Amino acid sequence: MSQQQSEERIKQLEEEVASLKNQLQNQQQKVIREKISVISSEVKDDNPYSRLMALSSMGIVKNYEKIREFTVAVVGLGGVGAVVCEMLTRCGIGKLILFDFDIVSLANMNRLFFTPDQVGMTKVDASKETLSKINPDVVFETCSYNITSLDNFDTFMNTINTGNLLTNGKVDLVLSCVDNFEARVAINRACNELNIRWMESGVSEDAVSGHIQFMVPGLTACYECAPPLVVASGVKQVKREGVCAASLPTTMGITAGLLVQSVLKYLLRFGKISYYLGYSAINDYFPTMKVRPNPQCSNPMCLKRQTEIAKLKEEGLLDLDLDEEDKEQADEKKIVHTENEWGIEIVADEVEDIDIHSHAHRHEDLSHGLEYQYEHHNKKVDEKELVNVENQDLDELMKQLNESMM
Ligand SMILES: [Zn+2]
Repeated sequence: MSQQQSEERIKQLEEEVASLKNQLQNQQQKVIREKISVISSEVKDDNPYSRLMALSSMGIVKNYEKIREFTVAVVGLGGVGAVVCEMLTRCGIGKLILFDFDIVSLANMNRLFFTPDQVGMTKVDASKETLSKINPDVVFETCSYNITSLDNFDTFMNTINTGNLLTNGKVDLVLSCVDNFEARVAINRACNELNIRWMESGVSEDAVSGHIQFMVPGLTACYECAPPLVVASGVKQVKREGVCAASLPTTMGITAGLLVQSVLKYLLRFGKISYYLGYSAINDYFPTMKVRPNPQCSNPMCLKRQTEIAKLKEEGLLDLDLDEEDKEQADEKKIVHTENEWGIEIVADEVEDIDIHSHAHRHEDLSHGLEYQYEHHNKKVDEKELVNVENQDLDELMKQLNESMM
């Protein structure tokens, strides 16, 4: 190497060193924000809570700061659950307990939240890493195991029974963001046993519908009271052997948004909570309804909770009352239908016991400044498309229905 070449090489190396030093400095200077002990409503650029606290000054929420007192357990960190965790973290929830036994893979990248550099990490670790950076004030607990196995189920029960940030008692709410029947039943059994309120969520295998459901042990139907309700997409399912389920970040994000909205409304006590809220992407239709508990439910703890709720109601000590809301919604009740064009498929052998009211919120009505109006369609249901419920036991039926849900 000639002297000139050596000098050029040295110059080149010096430039590389300078560039690397620069990168290192930038890395070190990256602002990782400090924890905030008392949240303020002061409007300034470095206050991550100012826009949230404005909900109080706008009169929507009485006391937004209360959000920091709540502990929420999220089971399943898929396309719905991971987004739910991000939203709750950004909202400043007190504590999140994350349950998932899966690992991040490239096949998850059509959904929100996870990034390709996290492939191979457990979903709970990857989530904690990202979420702690977004909001270090939130306390995270991670549980990387399958809650449905016998040993783990007890640990799961114990965790949600003692995980509360403030009291070391029960968590305030459990969110089901799982994709299978067994896990939903496990959550249902744990929540009935421990008397914990929970919210269930799901998206359809064809990726164009979703739902959320608020479960209050003894007050509303539990997951075993009746077969799950699904929103009909109106699209003929083309399901072939070996073909994997479809998923869209949109439907999953919308379902996650609806779920967290309900969580905020319930915890911070504002607005009206829908006990069941469906979403059909094909028609932009959002059916709502309430489902009462089944007095013949196969889950004995559900029956025990039903008795307790009846007693509380008698004594006037119940904080939620389906009947009270019925009175308020008397007008809506005039437009009750069990079948409609986009509708809700209710597959239960005791449909008459389910209190249903559904109403379409349609964009074209809005643009004409009209009130939301439900249109009645007397569409004939093709009997062949309905599941025959008469000669099947409930468990088998629920399994079949669940197979069509993620
Ligand atoms: Zn039940």
